[in-house]
Amino acid sequence: MEPRIHVLPEALANKIAAGEVVQRPSSALKELLENSIDAGAKRIEVRLKGSGSTLMHVIDDGSGMGPEDAVSCFRRHATSKIQSAEDLDAILTLGFRGEALASIAAVSQVELRTRRAEEASGTRVRVEGGEWIGTEPVATPVGTSIAVRNLFYNVPARRAFLKTPATEFKHAQETVETLALSVPRVGFALYHEDVEILRVPAIEGGTELEALAERVVDLFGKEFRDQLIPLEEETSYLTIRGILGTPDVYRRSRGEQYLFVNGRFIRHRSLEHGVLAAFQGLLPDGTYPFFALFLSLNPVHVDVNVHPTKSEVKFDDERGMYSVLQTVVRRALSLWARAPISEGAPLQALSEGIFAAPIPQVSASQGSSWSNPSPSRPRLEPGTYTGWVPEPASALPFERPQEPLLRTSPASIPSRVNPEGTEAAPTSILFQVLDRYIVSPLPTGLMVLDQTAAHERVLFERARQSFDSGMGMSQQLLFPHTVEFSPGDLELLKELKSDLFALGFDLDFLSGRSVLVRGVPADIRVGAERAILGDLIAQYRDLRTKLSLKAREALARSLARRSAIAPGTRLSEQEMRGLIEQLFQCETPLVAPDGRPTLIRMGRDEFERRFARS
Ligand code: ADP
Ligand code: MG
Repeated sequence: MEPRIHVLPEALANKIAAGEVVQRPSSALKELLENSIDAGAKRIEVRLKGSGSTLMHVIDDGSGMGPEDAVSCFRRHATSKIQSAEDLDAILTLGFRGEALASIAAVSQVELRTRRAEEASGTRVRVEGGEWIGTEPVATPVGTSIAVRNLFYNVPARRAFLKTPATEFKHAQETVETLALSVPRVGFALYHEDVEILRVPAIEGGTELEALAERVVDLFGKEFRDQLIPLEEETSYLTIRGILGTPDVYRRSRGEQYLFVNGRFIRHRSLEHGVLAAFQGLLPDGTYPFFALFLSLNPVHVDVNVHPTKSEVKFDDERGMYSVLQTVVRRALSLWARAPISEGAPLQALSEGIFAAPIPQVSASQGSSWSNPSPSRPRLEPGTYTGWVPEPASALPFERPQEPLLRTSPASIPSRVNPEGTEAAPTSILFQVLDRYIVSPLPTGLMVLDQTAAHERVLFERARQSFDSGMGMSQQLLFPHTVEFSPGDLELLKELKSDLFALGFDLDFLSGRSVLVRGVPADIRVGAERAILGDLIAQYRDLRTKLSLKAREALARSLARRSAIAPGTRLSEQEMRGLIEQLFQCETPLVAPDGRPTLIRMGRDEFERRFARS
């Protein structure tokens, strides 16, 4: 009997494999652009016709290929990027499977022109439907030009799957934007039907983060200028570098969340959620933050080989990544929120012991090449603190001279020091409205604090610190008094004795149901101790079956809620200042312990929206 199994001809095998790699014009485009980036191109031009279905022409000034490689690059599993299975664990280039060109050429008509710098003439290779048509020498600039015509011309079924030209074009444009974001040092131009759609210059000079910020503004518009928060964090396992859009430039869809892992763009629901969670309470419902974050970690911890388009990856410690990412983003947001005062002396005064808590070490933007705090800023003593010190322009690395956004040649590095930043602080303006909200102008708009929510945050974190140190600040009562409890409550109080002590309660269990209260936490209002102890017991009862950590959190929350300044309390200007300073010392200043926002910022956008004429 005839054998039934036979090996497919290579061209046919490639055509089948193409279905995985090349689902639509934009996925082919992505592969071509990645090849240009891998080849070290400084400038990449893309010319599309018919949304890429008719023509997709990518021209780069990268390394180019010699005559032999120019032919063999169309072979399946032909790659210059990995040699052995071990290399799979250390993939740092974007391509590695050596199947993109084979797959694309299997379902289109390809013309390649390429030349290496050391060669006098270049090579032209034509392949149609995976069949080699011809090779000849050609005069061509150094680099590679690859024109892909009539994608899927020999796979009508696939052609039928394509969406409308507008949709396909949108995907193609997004592909260019995403890759352009990942390599700010590379210039890009995109044309569709000979119309220039996008042009971003190669960014030269500055730090990597500055280059990225400039690329964001060039790509997505000048609304992002001054609205980007730098972020840089290194752990032994993971490095995170990138920028966040401020809450003022929130997006209405998830489309503008860019996560790159070892340079490769990925979509990762859980990690994206980690960032979103850090923005909790800061964004209007149903909106999303903008971010472009680059995670680098040892490639052995990442499996990029799980999906044909390489846009999904697996991490060996996903939960760890989630929490690091969330923490780092939260910290960067806190820094941003306290930026109005962080450059001036108040924090310095705080660190000198005016307030009890130590200043958390700030490692995100401070100290990196981002910010450039002016050493000449006068130090203010707490008593003479004159209100919000404006964010000096020198701390805004995105400042650059107004100039056309789409430049054809890179201008010089924008000056980062704006003379306005050295101006004296305006006189303090802080006032309370509706007996509850503290209003303050910011250099970027207006800030409104909810005094109760803010105070709860302060007290909550202080209580947590008391647990950590085991020694809360206690105020000894001048007249210790006894409080009666039910036998059940008394039992719980005894169980909680050490936690309560840590919070600052000094209790003596007398005979019977009486407890002598000698001291209470420094933060609570005298007279409220009975109510607070009752609260603590009730909450603890709910949570006693759960983790002790949760019980402590509940204690801290209840203490904060019971002791916070009530809405309706008039505050003096000094009290308002004290509250704000303490708030911005918190680890998570922007949300109250229950997740409500402590403050609202209104930026230019918001004002313009509200005053807009229809
Ligand atoms: P991979 O990128 O996975 O190696 P491809 O099929 O995309 O596989 O490309 C095959 C090979 O062709 C690459 O490894 C590279 O050596 C070469 N190549 C492709 N495009 C370019 C380019 N624009 N410039 C220089 N070399 C290229
Ligand atoms: Mg490739």
